[in-house]
Amino acid sequence: MNIKLSTIKKWIDCDINDEYMDSVVIGTCIDSRKLDPSNLFIPFKGEHVDGHRFVEQSLSNGAGASFWQKDVPNPPEGPLIFVDDTLQALQNLAKAYLKYVNPKVVAITGSNGKTTTKDMVECVLRESFKVKKTQGNYNNEIGCPLTILDLDEDTEVSILEMGMSGFGEIRELTELAEPDVAIITNIGESHMQDLGSREGIAEAKFEITEGLQDDGLLIYDGDEPLLKPLVATLRNRSLSIGTQTENDVLIHTNQTSSTGINFQLNKEQIVYHLNILGEHNVKNATYAIQVAKHFGVMDDVIQNALHDLLITDMRMQQISTNLYGLFINDAYNASPTSMKAAIDTLDKLQKPQKIIVLADVLELGDISKDMHEQVGYYLKDKDIQTLITFGEEAKHISKIADQFIEETLHFDSKKEIVEFLKLNLDSDSVTLFKGSRGMSLETIIEDLT
Ligand code: ATP
Ligand code: MG
Repeated sequence: MNIKLSTIKKWIDCDINDEYMDSVVIGTCIDSRKLDPSNLFIPFKGEHVDGHRFVEQSLSNGAGASFWQKDVPNPPEGPLIFVDDTLQALQNLAKAYLKYVNPKVVAITGSNGKTTTKDMVECVLRESFKVKKTQGNYNNEIGCPLTILDLDEDTEVSILEMGMSGFGEIRELTELAEPDVAIITNIGESHMQDLGSREGIAEAKFEITEGLQDDGLLIYDGDEPLLKPLVATLRNRSLSIGTQTENDVLIHTNQTSSTGINFQLNKEQIVYHLNILGEHNVKNATYAIQVAKHFGVMDDVIQNALHDLLITDMRMQQISTNLYGLFINDAYNASPTSMKAAIDTLDKLQKPQKIIVLADVLELGDISKDMHEQVGYYLKDKDIQTLITFGEEAKHISKIADQFIEETLHFDSKKEIVEFLKLNLDSDSVTLFKGSRGMSLETIIEDLT
């Protein structure tokens, strides 16, 4: 974003002193320590810190201008944009700027797989369009407008990740972005406490369709029964994706090896290769393929792009070592659903010695013990030789899975896990790591590599 304050004045409800109308802002900043020259500084009245404290300093450090919420006393001298509410103003500005740039918008929500799908959508589109995606995990009511304000004037497709923790949040984001394509990757169990049930979670994700353009397309997890009744009420075009036969796009997985997965869609001849593991990633890739097809990208271009996919770290990231074999780092985060997806991935790999290291899935509240036990039962009949658990909640997995898995171990410290792995892994082993962000299981891999 590179605009004059006079343009901002035209776009949103605000007051600006006449002498600053010709000032220019380039990009945005919400953290004064990360200010770039000419940024528009946006302070928020937080619970603990009021960002307005940093406005004066930001202006003297080169900010082009700053928002100022009218109810905050003593504004400093300088190029200020007075608004009723800085968050609302940020969102309004993003909405206006999006209209001005006018790219196609792809909005992605779901309990798991948003970031991965976002990366894949970018991957299959970037040959054909100028694409910009959400950076990192900037997927909430602040991150999403900031991502929009980061678009270049010639951006052709904007890919937006939309996260939530309660009802109404996705609605707000989708009404801001008015997507051309909306994707619901899956329905899991996160935020069960706020949303009451999996039905509630499905409804909250489905809000993404409320901002969808009239001629927009919904792409969704067709294997999830809870989405079906919701889709039945939808007036937009939709595509269900999955492995169950009634889906619009049916996935056939041909072959899984440690170099990746080959798969085909419906009765098409074309074979796609994905260089990362996990059936769930085949689904995520299929969402991306459908987006690309919708925008007219040729099949062979999509196929080649997927072949060279680079995925954000810690999502089924493969790390080969000479001493300890293959590590699969899926430790970015975990929910019961994604933990089961990780178990399936390891189960399907053709390797003699497979180890899974599982840590707590945090923030499950009252249902935590039950959910961890269910993961334990899920390990029944899986081709996995060793289960290692870490954390108080993950102990419930071990207690149940002990009857199904040859070797089940629970450790109270990561140091002990490192020592155990050092002694027991060899160049043929495959070890998969999965747990909540707060459990930081990746430090075990760091210690071993
Ligand atoms: P967050 O809510 O933290 O932003 P996210 O939705 O962006 O998460 P990713 O970061 O893409 O999700 O993936 C997190 C984990 O979810 C992956 O490591 C994987 O285990 C699992 N996962 C990814 N895609 C799916 C899917 N389609 N279904 C089930 N689990 C999935
Ligand atoms: Mg994410």
